[in-house]
Amino acid sequence: MELIIYDLEWNIGYKPYVFRYHGAELTLRGEIIQIGAVRVDGNARVLDTFFLQLRPRIFRRLQHHIAKVTGLSQGDLDAGLPLREGLERFRQWAGPDAVFGEWGMDDMPVLKQNLYLCGLDESWPQRWVDLQRLFLQSFPRKEGEGLALESVVERLGIPLEADRAFHNALDDALYTARVCARLPLAEGLAAYPDQRAQLTEALGAGLAAPVRDVHFWPGRLDHDDYKNDPELTAAACPECGAPLALDADGVWLKRGNTGYYTLAACTADSAHGQWFLRFKLARPDGLHWNFARGLEPVTDREALARWHKQKKAQLARLRKLREKQPEE
Ligand SMILES: [Zn+2]
Repeated sequence: MELIIYDLEWNIGYKPYVFRYHGAELTLRGEIIQIGAVRVDGNARVLDTFFLQLRPRIFRRLQHHIAKVTGLSQGDLDAGLPLREGLERFRQWAGPDAVFGEWGMDDMPVLKQNLYLCGLDESWPQRWVDLQRLFLQSFPRKEGEGLALESVVERLGIPLEADRAFHNALDDALYTARVCARLPLAEGLAAYPDQRAQLTEALGAGLAAPVRDVHFWPGRLDHDDYKNDPELTAAACPECGAPLALDADGVWLKRGNTGYYTLAACTADSAHGQWFLRFKLARPDGLHWNFARGLEPVTDREALARWHKQKKAQLARLRKLREKQPEE
């Protein structure tokens, strides 16, 4: 078993950069200026390392905050390898079937957006894992403990090396490998949940009752599909299979950053009760949305009262907004 543990440093702009991806409008999260990576075996032993300094094409001017964090200068960027060439070299080094691991989930969306904007195959890499998640399985988070790589390295008593600073892509990849050496890495990777399992878990997290009738739609372009696409909104009553009627006013409430839900009821028999039709969304590759959907039985009056109260508030907000904006 081999894993590519990698880290990216990226530059951001003083103005957002918006681009189209198969019709969908996306905002570039950052342009890669440094790639650091190590190839490790199942025990997190380092087999090989990779490092490149890159020259951005879109955000050419080094943003002052990025300069501060990375210690890089404008000259470092200007002397870097062209981004496209660097990404091609990285792919050659890692291999087409490599499994990737990173500390957190921030870098893969940036990698994929950059691959796409350079005209390279953004479907690579196919598989990647969040090593923070594996770390938390072995070292559950205690009150007040941060997850920044620096603080975890310190907590585990991993010795710092004088010539290795944090926020250099290769140093961060190496420190991440050292953290992984304290984990049952191979077992963790073998048991790592796929996108569907991860999103289904997030969908049901913190709910009073387990969700039923779970569906999963990967790789969609439009964030609003959850409420606009009949394929996604057509749900059946778990008791009898008859279609569910969704909230007559078309109201969807938000739960967390990327959760939405509406009230639904069986069209055949009112005794089958009411349901919250729930969606959880994620965009792990920075390009496509995944949707998980499930039905939560509405079991208590309080939850129902809360829905009606919040729905009323949302309709009032929308009315106010419409009054402010003159009709076109
Ligand atoms: Zn029914």
